[in-house]
Amino acid sequence: MGLKAIARKNAIHAMLIYTGGCNGCDIEVVNAVYSPRYDIEQYRVLLTWNPREADVLIVTGCVTWQMVEPLKKIYSLIPEPKAVVAVGACAINGNVYKNMVGEIGVNEEIFAPVDNIIPVDAKVPGCAPRPEDILMGVVKVIPKLMEAP
Ligand code: SF4
Repeated sequence: MGLKAIARKNAIHAMLIYTGGCNGCDIEVVNAVYSPRYDIEQYRVLLTWNPREADVLIVTGCVTWQMVEPLKKIYSLIPEPKAVVAVGACAINGNVYKNMVGEIGVNEEIFAPVDNIIPVDAKVPGCAPRPEDILMGVVKVIPKLMEAP
């Protein structure tokens, strides 16, 4: 077993990126999923803000045009193997923001779903999703990371 695999057995690092929306999903991730009540750290999933250290990218929001390139960039900086979890209705289908029509009759500001921009391994529906569902969405992708050589 390689050194990276051994390290992964002891800790998976998740990074959160917000791409637009109301921040409700971010509150659930940071204030609930990482709280002692839901305690995702019991699965050794630690929070990081450094993409080079991350294994899982948690994406919230409807991907406004300002966030398309930052999202691609952060995804590219995460080393392989990696997994992406789209959290919330905004990330999955644009939610209420997709229906906000711009001046020319179409919404050209919103690029959701997230898998229009980067590959997505798990989706957690809800507005905002329940903390236990977010937790399960993240835990679900761990085998993909562990099975990698
Ligand atoms: S899915 Fe709902 S709670 Fe989450 S960012 Fe969008 S509007 Fe807010």
